[in-house]
Amino acid sequence: MIRINENYLKLQASYLFSTIAKRVNEFQNQNPDTEIIKLGIGDATRGLPAACVEAFHTSVDEMAADATFRGYGPEQGYPFLREKIAENDFQARGVDISADEIFISDGAKCDTGNFQEILSADITFAVPDPVYPVYVDTNVMAGRTGNFENDRFQNIVYLECTRDNNFIPDLPKKPVDLIYLCFPNNPTGATISKAELAKWVDYARVNKSLILFDAAYEAFIRDDEIPHSIYEVDGAKEVAVEFRSFSKTAGFTGTRCAFTVVPRQCMAYDSQGNQQSLHALWNRRHCTKFNGVSYPVQRAAEAVYSDAGKLQVKSIIADYMKNADLIRKEMDALGLSYVGGENSPYIWIDAKGNSWDMFDNLLNNAGVVCTPGAGFGTCGDQYIRLSAFNSYENVEKAMKRIRESLK
Ligand code: PLP
Repeated sequence: MIRINENYLKLQASYLFSTIAKRVNEFQNQNPDTEIIKLGIGDATRGLPAACVEAFHTSVDEMAADATFRGYGPEQGYPFLREKIAENDFQARGVDISADEIFISDGAKCDTGNFQEILSADITFAVPDPVYPVYVDTNVMAGRTGNFENDRFQNIVYLECTRDNNFIPDLPKKPVDLIYLCFPNNPTGATISKAELAKWVDYARVNKSLILFDAAYEAFIRDDEIPHSIYEVDGAKEVAVEFRSFSKTAGFTGTRCAFTVVPRQCMAYDSQGNQQSLHALWNRRHCTKFNGVSYPVQRAAEAVYSDAGKLQVKSIIADYMKNADLIRKEMDALGLSYVGGENSPYIWIDAKGNSWDMFDNLLNNAGVVCTPGAGFGTCGDQYIRLSAFNSYENVEKAMKRIRESLK
């Protein structure tokens, strides 16, 4: 008899986006003339940078001719892209990461979800609350948790991120083997200083733990003091894996390209206590289960690092951050407290009550869609997330409507 992986039965259906869609549809049916403005989405809204589009076209033409056609590429990614990443994203910042420590993939979602697969099933792990749900659900699927009871999975160490700790989790009280961190954070938009990050690196070194550091929103950092990579902290290469993505950096959410850095020094342990290279294990897993990102997509990603590409990416991000600035200014004027939006496209706003009530209030009275924080964990119950991914005109309109509705 064919049987299922029963861990999948423990997963909680995510009602968040379906409930949002249902409520938005109901509102639209009752108010057909209202133009709804969506500030809930975590998806890029601007077209690809021109340099990427040009590289895309050129490489598609290459694929059309026998002489320049490319079939399967290296599973880890083409050297031309890995080298550009190493030079621009790491070496230029004084971080010694080499091209062969970078694995190109089709998304940070897959990589942050899949990485746990090369780790033992019986390790302990910690996630922030609120959290990007992929970290939790993939560990549930792998059988590392108990059942879902009282709004939380058993056997997960939840790292509460609240106003009291500036939305930066405190170190766990007991040793934990695997730790997920995400900065700039989704959903809170909070960032972490180098000194705070160093505490986590020290913790991981002392406890022989591993940090999975999700830096998908690194490109939104404006403050020079904030680290872009965990490897800016001394000793991090031995205890941390970093995930990056072109999704939000260059609008690749639909084009798909990301990368994961697994330093050669990064080790985990076998049951005998012997060190094993995570680089070797991830390489084995990647080559077995993944056949590479398409050549034109990798050429388009490479163009992010051209002179023109850099300027275009900078300008698109600046535009999104102009939206974030406007949202923050408006929240200040309304006297609503928030975090984020300074070095991140997300603004996490204190709803001063239930997050779904605030959602309904903004939808029904302003025609604006936000994301209720409850969808990201119990610590999000009293918050909403606004996203800067939209046009300035729409954000301006949305802020005017919110101001009038909350008056
Ligand atoms: N990590 C975080 C924290 C995210 O918010 C997202 C997307 O919203 C991802 C990863 C997924 O990135 P990608 O599009 O590269 O799969």
